[in-house]
Amino acid sequence: MTEPTITCPNCKTEIKLTESLAALLMDSICHTLGNAWPKKTLKAASGMSKSAMFFIRWLAKPKQLVLYQGTKGGFMGKAMSEHVAGIQPSVLKWARKQAGYSLQDVADVMTRPLEVIEEWERERGSAAPTYVQLEKLAYQVYKRPIAVFFFPEPPQEHTLKKSFRTLPDFEIEALATDTRYALRYARSMQLALEELNDGFNPTEKKIYAQFKLPPRGNIIKIAAEVRQYLGVSLDDQTRWGTGDEALKAWRERIEASGIFVFKRSFKQKDISAFCLVDKEFPIIYLNNSTAKTRQIFSLFHEIAHILAHVNGITKQDDRYINSLPQNEKNTEVMCNRFAAEFLVPSSDFDSRIRSVSMDEAVISSLADRYKVSREVVLRKLLDRGLIDKEYYEDKAAQWVKDYFETQPESGGGNYYRTQASYLGDKYLGLVFGKYYQGRLSIEQVADYLGVKTKSVAGLEHVFTSKATFA
Ligand SMILES: [Zn+2]
Repeated sequence: MTEPTITCPNCKTEIKLTESLAALLMDSICHTLGNAWPKKTLKAASGMSKSAMFFIRWLAKPKQLVLYQGTKGGFMGKAMSEHVAGIQPSVLKWARKQAGYSLQDVADVMTRPLEVIEEWERERGSAAPTYVQLEKLAYQVYKRPIAVFFFPEPPQEHTLKKSFRTLPDFEIEALATDTRYALRYARSMQLALEELNDGFNPTEKKIYAQFKLPPRGNIIKIAAEVRQYLGVSLDDQTRWGTGDEALKAWRERIEASGIFVFKRSFKQKDISAFCLVDKEFPIIYLNNSTAKTRQIFSLFHEIAHILAHVNGITKQDDRYINSLPQNEKNTEVMCNRFAAEFLVPSSDFDSRIRSVSMDEAVISSLADRYKVSREVVLRKLLDRGLIDKEYYEDKAAQWVKDYFETQPESGGGNYYRTQASYLGDKYLGLVFGKYYQGRLSIEQVADYLGVKTKSVAGLEHVFTSKATFA
């Protein structure tokens, strides 16, 4: 019998499943999914390549492997303080670069001299981390499964540059490790959606199949059509009491039209949102640390990206747009125009500003009317030449600063409610639905929700009691 192989779903490289690598993989997978993926399936080479999607999802998750099982011999018969054989320097280097770390950054977190880290990454070098160090590198620093470090070569992932062409190189270089991880994780959520739905989005009315946003189209007309499609009139919108209520309602409408909206709290504070386009499962991630009205605007900015079929990462301060090449710049300007026009329809807005003199109170009441930030109103006034650029920039900067100063330090709040609001009702409904049909084990539910098995019940309680927040 020939040695079984796994085929990397991206680069199609065949990776020989040596006995030690197979042991690592199986432990990892079985530990995560209980008996859902029986060992004998995984042993068969064909079984492994069939689970290509699973493989990518697995690659994106750090906390999945218990290698050191407390058996007499410990890890592969070695003590934990010994250097581990078989770690590939090229994979260590790849993991570091993908995470956006310099050698010095890693030296600092590992509290080891720079030269040591350099030696670990040197081809055919003799140095290697100990098991304890490898565990820290994998889970805390690079956020990867341990087994990947034993692969003969780095798996090929899409580069950020390729995925996000509307972000200039220097902005991509500057993306925080946490943001890079969020992007990887989002991709794995997309694949989870594919698995859970057998490859097809079951939503009847798919908004992204209905519209195509051209960069120079008639935005006023398209925004009105999209509004009609979503079935939310301006009267409905102005009746919502708070930004919170509005965000929840918008999210529900968007999710009902086939786009999944997730949230997380980004460590990189100036990230507003991002989206990943896809033929079946386009998804949006919102930064939950920004104001609700800001999230609403970001939501529609990302919708525009999806309707234009271009991935986007959006930053709070959008001055970088000016440094983009013309095409990319057009896309970003169009997405902003779409969001502003959708949320604040020009006809209504113009009729309301005709006979009033503008001051902060008027701006605030208009913002309240549409459930947008004051900045969006200000922007519309700027576009109409009713205020000057200096006033706009001053005020916008001031309001962002005010917001962060009035926010309590995070750490409070109910864990389950927070997780439920990150995942959203639609996704929770999908996962728990399969669970109730007996098609998912509790371990699989935990995996799809990205929580520990013991947290599933708490999350289920929040979900079934409809206590989620926007
Ligand atoms: Zn954008």
